[in-house]
Amino acid sequence: MYCFQCAREYVEEVTECVECGVGLVEDKPTPPEEVGGQDEPQVAYELYEWSFESRRMLEGLLTSEAIPHGWQGAVLIVREADEDRVDALAEQAEEADGPILEDDAEKIGYDMDEWTAEAQGALVKALGLAGIPHMFSAEGELIVAEENEDKVDEVIDQVTHRLAVDDELGEATQVIEGLKLNDLLGDVRTLARKLVKNSGDAKSTLSMVKHAELLSDVKTPFGFDGNRWSQIRLRCTQMHGVLTDEDREEEDVRDAAEALAIELQEVV
Ligand SMILES: [Zn+2]
Repeated sequence: MYCFQCAREYVEEVTECVECGVGLVEDKPTPPEEVGGQDEPQVAYELYEWSFESRRMLEGLLTSEAIPHGWQGAVLIVREADEDRVDALAEQAEEADGPILEDDAEKIGYDMDEWTAEAQGALVKALGLAGIPHMFSAEGELIVAEENEDKVDEVIDQVTHRLAVDDELGEATQVIEGLKLNDLLGDVRTLARKLVKNSGDAKSTLSMVKHAELLSDVKTPFGFDGNRWSQIRLRCTQMHGVLTDEDREEEDVRDAAEALAIELQEVV
């Protein structure tokens, strides 16, 4: 058996390299300088931050796809010509890298029958981000460790809340980025603060109706967390709703403006 990263040879009973920590492979690894022909350009993937399991998995995928490759420690070397294929395999190996659910842990199952595939995808992503080990049973139940039940319930609440918000908002249609977005966010925040102080301000009300309507229809801009953006859209929608209600109370205007101003406090 060989370590694919450092090429050290081991007897068959050994399962991982004592130096590198990664699982071993059967075939002798190719030295990185021998990947591709002499004049063929190479590309390097620095995978230091990847887990041992993901690197071992990528190694297996590359071998099974017969893509020439070599390793310099945690750096993978392939031919530039194979870059697209390697990107796809790397994505596959990285996605599989969730926290591992221990075999001997007490487990509980959640019925996922009512969940759409999209909602389940959002849940799996949220569980991964929260570092909660999970898997699906053959019957499609979500399986987690019993000790994480409270955390899982919390994640489920957050995800269902967010999906409900997204549902209510509908899909945004406008793309606004960069300076233009900053200006819009800044304007809305200023208007919100004005309305908190003086909820009857006619000029700010008119401007806010226009701005809040626009902002509530903007797609999640680059660099924004989707949840956070949904929340901003929701506040804008509520603000717009209050201001376009002819029977509005000053107090409702103030409350909606305050919630919106708080939401935008740290954004611009
Ligand atoms: Zn090694």
